[in-house]
Amino acid sequence: MEIERALVAFAHPDDAEFLCGGTVALWAKRGVEVTYVCATDGSAGWNAPGLTRDQIADRREEEMREVADLLGVREVRFLGFADGTLEPSLDLRRSLTREVRRARPDVLVTFDPSELWSGRSYINHPDHRAVGEAILAVVACDAPTRPQFPELVDEGFEPFKIRRVWLASDEGEHVVDVGGSIDLKIQALLAHRSQMENMGEFDVDARVRQWAGRLADGTPHEYAERFRAFEIEV
Ligand SMILES: [Zn+2]
Repeated sequence: MEIERALVAFAHPDDAEFLCGGTVALWAKRGVEVTYVCATDGSAGWNAPGLTRDQIADRREEEMREVADLLGVREVRFLGFADGTLEPSLDLRRSLTREVRRARPDVLVTFDPSELWSGRSYINHPDHRAVGEAILAVVACDAPTRPQFPELVDEGFEPFKIRRVWLASDEGEHVVDVGGSIDLKIQALLAHRSQMENMGEFDVDARVRQWAGRLADGTPHEYAERFRAFEIEV
C-alpha cells in the first residue's frame, strides 16, 4: 500500500523532529500529506525563571508552525493538554481518535510506549509514554469502533481502521534511509530555538548525526531512523 497520508502523534512540539524528522521530510518531498498532532501545549519546556506557562506555550506553538512549514507538514493540530501532565486517559484517547478519524492516515507514527529509557543516558519522558500508550488504544480499538466515543460520530467523524502503525524505536526493524534529509531534520530541530537554549551545551547537530549513524549500523545507509512497524490485520 502506497503512503499518501501520514499522521504523526507526539507529546511536545519538538518530539516529531527527534523521532522521525528525516522520514517526515522525505514523505513531504514525495507529496505525502503529513499531519502532526501535538498532544500538549509544550508549556513546561522552558526552565529559566521569568516566563509563564502561557508565554512558553505561545512561543513553542510559533516554533512548531515554523518547523512544520520548513518540513512540508500540511497541518499541525494541538490538543492542548498541559505539558508534563499527560496520561493515557479516555480524554486523551478521545482527542487522538478525533484526529485519526479526521486525517484517516495510511500510516500512524508515534512513540514506543514500552521504552522507559534508551541506553544509560536517557530516561523517557512520561508524556511520551502516555501518547504512545494512548495511540495503541486508539488503534485497537477506539478509532474503528462506532459505539466508542459516540459523540465523535455526532461531530461527523466516522470510524476508521488504522492499518499501519510505526513506533519510533532504536530497536525497530524497519529502517528508513534518511541520508537525504538529515540536514533538514537538524535544521528543523535547531528551529525549536527555545529548546536549543534550554539544552545549553548539547550539540544537536553532532548528537543527531551520531544517533542516526548508530541506527544505520548493519545497513548500507549512512543515517537512519528506525521503527517497529505493525501491519494491523483485524
Ligand atoms: Zn518530548
